[in-house]
Formats: sequence, C-alpha cells, structure tokens
Amino acid sequence: MSFKKILISVDESQFSIEAVKRGVELGKAIGAELGLIHVIDESQTVGNIDAGISPADALKILETETEKLMQGLIDLYIHDLPLTKFTPIGKPAAQIIKTAEQWNADLIVTGTHRTTGWRRLIIGSISEDIIRHSKIPVLVVPLA
Ligand code: AMP
Repeated sequence: MSFKKILISVDESQFSIEAVKRGVELGKAIGAELGLIHVIDESQTVGNIDAGISPADALKILETETEKLMQGLIDLYIHDLPLTKFTPIGKPAAQIIKTAEQWNADLIVTGTHRTTGWRRLIIGSISEDIIRHSKIPVLVVPLA
C-alpha cells in the first residue's frame, strides 16, 4: 500500500502535537501530500444567550481560534511544506472521515488523550470513533 495523502487531525490539546510531528515526519519520509484538519464542533456554535454571545458570534470566535491553532502548528512543525487546510463545521469524527474520503486521503493521523473509565464515557473518544467508522487506515499517535 502506498500513502500519497496523509490527513492529520488536530484539536487544541497537546496530544495533537504528537500527531502533527509524526504525520509530518512520515509525510516527508515517503513524499506524501499533507492535509491538516480541525473540525469546528457544531455543538459549540450555539453561543450563550446569557453571556450575550449569539450563534454568529460563537462561530466567528471559533473560526478565529481555529485559524490561530492551525497557523501555530504550521509555524512550529510544518513550516513551508505544501499543505491543504480543512476547517469544516460538524461532528469531529464524522467530518474527519468525510473530508478524508473526499480528499482521497490514504491515511488519517490523530492524537489521543487516552481517556478511560467514566471520563471516556462522558466525553467520548474522537480517535476511537474514527477507528470504528473509517474505511481509510488510521494512525493513532499517543503522547510520547
Ligand atoms: P481522543 O482522545 O480519542 O478524543 O482523540 C483526540 C484526538 O482526536 C486529537 O488529538 C485530534 O487528533 C483528534 N480531534 C479531536 N477533536 C478534533 C477536532 N475538533 N478536529 C480535528 N481533530 C480532532
């Protein structure tokens, strides 16, 4: 199997840094094209009426934060390597898989918080969701 396109999924946690480092390392080694995705979680776009934050305001804030997150990772770990950026809105795992399929990725790279027990039951696991539903191979990178 050859990996021509690698899609690296990132959130704002330190766990994603490992995914970026390994994904970029692999991409460089095999000459694959890189994609970077952060999904704007639709559950966060409802705003907070009590705090005077409308859904439109919430989306604007999330878009700005997403841009900062992506640019920060690019500046630190990707530099001027060719890269396609994706910032869809929706459910993270589903959007990552959909984007990977549409972009024809051969591999999805994610980090993992390695949550277990009650915490995992409550907040769920994006990486696990991706592994369960993706037809594209997935590389899950734990924190070193
Ligand atoms: P988990 O600990 O199983 O929930 O997986 C965390 C990993 O899922 C992160 O390191 C990212 O690679 C990925 N991830 C989580 N949320 C998002 C998001 N909103 N957009 C893109 N990737 C995400």
